[in-house]
Amino acid sequence: MQVTRRGFLKICAAGMGSSTLVALGFSPTDLQASVRAFKLARTIETRTICPYCSVSCGVIMYSLGSGGKNAEPALIHVEGDPDNPISRGTLCPKGAGLVDLIKSPDRALYPEVREAGTNEWKRLSWEDAITQIARLMKEDRDANFVTRNDQGQLVNRWNTTGLVAASTANNESLYLTSKWLRSLGMVTADTQARI
Ligand code: SF4
Repeated sequence: MQVTRRGFLKICAAGMGSSTLVALGFSPTDLQASVRAFKLARTIETRTICPYCSVSCGVIMYSLGSGGKNAEPALIHVEGDPDNPISRGTLCPKGAGLVDLIKSPDRALYPEVREAGTNEWKRLSWEDAITQIARLMKEDRDANFVTRNDQGQLVNRWNTTGLVAASTANNESLYLTSKWLRSLGMVTADTQARI
């Protein structure tokens, strides 16, 4: 493409960015497509489930990072997963805004406990949290496990603790979860997701 001195000055006057490139002969459609491809070209794709509601739409999260052992990837884009049989690539506005939830300063990133008799939340490690939950479950189960009902029939029930699973739990993880809690005799369980 030949650009005269006068033409070059006109292009500069039109400003930088897409208008300049259009003046140089690039079509806006090609320009937009090339920018989008570049944005996601080097990203890592992670498939997951939207945590907001029981529709449980499929999500692809795109993050950038070196892949180094101590390098944390940075999330840059979220979109619907076209291969997901439930949502087929669609997300409602809430799901489409998942980046804001993930990057929110209010997001819970570690376990906290509010001990009896206090209104303060205290941070604890995952190991301590799991140990504490296991101890409380055992104490409650030992105290309230019902082996036989009023008619003397064997029931092996634990009715005083229940489990609520997250909406991101799928069939497979919920199958394992229900096997585990039934093996303890736990009767009450529910999950927000229906997938
Ligand atoms: S994208 Fe919307 S409809 Fe789908 S699971 Fe999330 S909140 Fe529910």
